[in-house]
Amino acid sequence: MSLVVLAGPAGVGKGSIVKWILDNHPDFMLSVSSTTRDPRAGEVDGVHYNFVSKSVFEQQIEDGQMLEWAQVHGNHLYGTPLNELARAEEQNKHLLLEIDLQGARQVAEKLPGALMIFINPPSFEELERRLRSRGTETEEQIQTRLTTARTELAAAGEFDYQLTNLDLEACARQVVELVHEAERGS
Ligand code: 5GP
Repeated sequence: MSLVVLAGPAGVGKGSIVKWILDNHPDFMLSVSSTTRDPRAGEVDGVHYNFVSKSVFEQQIEDGQMLEWAQVHGNHLYGTPLNELARAEEQNKHLLLEIDLQGARQVAEKLPGALMIFINPPSFEELERRLRSRGTETEEQIQTRLTTARTELAAAGEFDYQLTNLDLEACARQVVELVHEAERGS
């Protein structure tokens, strides 16, 4: 079982890459994060996120239940509950963590064996285009995400591997290959 951190700026396609891997590789599962933000249309509690109040989230931090957590886009709290690791171990699956840079750094420090993968966009212009075309954020939120994206892109070199999402399926296949290679090597 490997712990795989997938990081990269909002709009780069992490969600679609994860979905492709889950649909095609039953030896992978997604870590369900906790968040204080409201669910979007179609998001299911316990599947996409555990949607919790700020007080519940803060209690979980205090109780030592979070592997990592961060305030993302200067707004809501997001974190990986430690019990997701146990769930993956029980099911003997590779655990995918789709988290931000701050969280990725915490995981790298706490669990040096984690496979750290950064997903780059083909260009900054393409990232901006993808972010706008998904239509889930206001202009103000898009500007915040673009500012965060510049910081995240500057940190790509901290990761074990960098991939570029030119083609969703090709990029997702590369993630799977890296994980299987690491598994064979260990
Ligand atoms: P969204 O609100 O669009 O679902 O996610 C916003 C950002 O939060 C994304 O960049 C995503 O990677 C990050 N994120 C989601 N879950 C977690 C988590 O558990 N920990 C951290 N640190 N970031 C997360």
